[in-house]
Amino acid sequence: MQHHCQALGITQWELRQKSSEMDFPTLQQSVSQCTACSLHQTRTQTVFGIGNPNAELMFIGEAPGFHEDQQGEPFVGRAGQLLTAMIQSMGLTRQQVYIANILKCRPPNNRDPQADEVQQCTPFLNQQIALIKPKLLVAVGRISAHYLLKTKASLESLRNKIHRYGEGIPIIVTYHPAYLLRNPADKKKAFLDLQFIIKTLRG
Ligand code: URA
Repeated sequence: MQHHCQALGITQWELRQKSSEMDFPTLQQSVSQCTACSLHQTRTQTVFGIGNPNAELMFIGEAPGFHEDQQGEPFVGRAGQLLTAMIQSMGLTRQQVYIANILKCRPPNNRDPQADEVQQCTPFLNQQIALIKPKLLVAVGRISAHYLLKTKASLESLRNKIHRYGEGIPIIVTYHPAYLLRNPADKKKAFLDLQFIIKTLRG
């Protein structure tokens, strides 16, 4: 079935093709109207991303959870508060960086994103990255790292290295704050990741 994006007058397939040509406001509008996968049926609203559109540092998480779906902003629940503290521990603010997710809609009961949802949604993320042109990307957690690096390697083995995304943007992998809330012993290693991130950014 061809889903139709009424306000823009184009099909969802065309929408994704065209997302690589969109400016920020058009991209944000098309995300808010997207019906390309079934998640649009259960979302309260889409969660586009937040922060500085000219940010040097861009964090990419997995998908909105309950609070993000309610508020329309990424990383605002408990895990989000920890991510905010992690950003602040690097001497930065949420307003200085950019924060987005692989998926723009909440999966029901916070289940893992499905392959078809990731496939439908990531042209939007790719265009966000293309417009922001960050100096450094941070993959927040396993799902994000696996998509961005096209690997199934363990998160542990991906940490503390500079990988490349797409046409060559450096990318560093760290723990998801929700994981750190469940496994506080690993916060020390996350702190080392944050130091590595800031050193790489400033280097
Ligand atoms: N977890 C994520 O990966 N992203 C959010 O926005 C919130 C929780």
